[in-house]
Amino acid sequence: MGSGVVYREIVVKSALTRVQGMPFAWSLNPYMGCERGCVYCYARDYHARRGRDTGAGFDHEIDVKINFPDLLARELRRLRKRETVALGTATDPYQQCEGRYRITRRTLEALVASPLPLVIISKGSMVVRDIDLLTRLDVKVCISIGTVSTELARTSEPHASPPKARLEAVRRLVSAGIDAGVLAAPILPGLSDSEESLDAVAAAAASSGATFFSTRPLKLDPGVKPHYFAFLAERFPALLPEAEARFADRVNPERAYADAIEERARRVRSRYSFTERPFRRPERPEASQLRLAI
Ligand code: SF4
Repeated sequence: MGSGVVYREIVVKSALTRVQGMPFAWSLNPYMGCERGCVYCYARDYHARRGRDTGAGFDHEIDVKINFPDLLARELRRLRKRETVALGTATDPYQQCEGRYRITRRTLEALVASPLPLVIISKGSMVVRDIDLLTRLDVKVCISIGTVSTELARTSEPHASPPKARLEAVRRLVSAGIDAGVLAAPILPGLSDSEESLDAVAAAAASSGATFFSTRPLKLDPGVKPHYFAFLAERFPALLPEAEARFADRVNPERAYADAIEERARRVRSRYSFTERPFRRPERPEASQLRLAI
């Protein structure tokens, strides 16, 4: 567990959260806050909306939802529709404290008992611990890797697993027959948005056997901007004025920039053979839409 991080065990009233406007129907977040401490993390803004601190309050004060798996098991038994669930939309379900609390593992056990199509998002390698459960689920594992630069990853995602360890996790998941790929997210303007950088991530993903490779540009909500700008000011001051101008009155980058990134990603993807699999029992929306939206 992270040094200087405070863990608060809390009891929650619900596990499944209904999601609107996304290609999955429910989200699952066994923790609140994330000790990986990524400087660009959009989930910091969820803390802001709850009136909580978006800095240390997000990455050094972790709420551990201790009744989450039992509650989920009950909620799943009551569900009538077989809709997709996304695990880890506002926290990393495999952050360091999962090693001790095992809330995510018990969440997977509940899903094995009442299966739904599942998407998992993580910047960690601990996911391989649960291969025995994942092989029993209809699951896509998205390992998030925005750069293969160890230095950029170390400074922008200080407590995420190093890119090489994440790639090794992809390799082990795919070797076990699990659908796993790389989500290059977020793409940082001026740092990881060149075709060369995207190609390096895609090449590493392909070498690891990833079944898919997708990208997502940086998004800066109000609760996130100060942290990302402080990171630029300290590490890459020359990039700060352009970033401040780009996101001055918006959360997402301008359309032309987002389109250019997507076009780069399309070119890069076409150089490798990714073979994403549909969910075993497909449903609407299709899996390819999921890949674009996460
Ligand atoms: S691992 Fe994910 S949830 Fe955690 S801080 Fe990084 S981006 Fe946010």
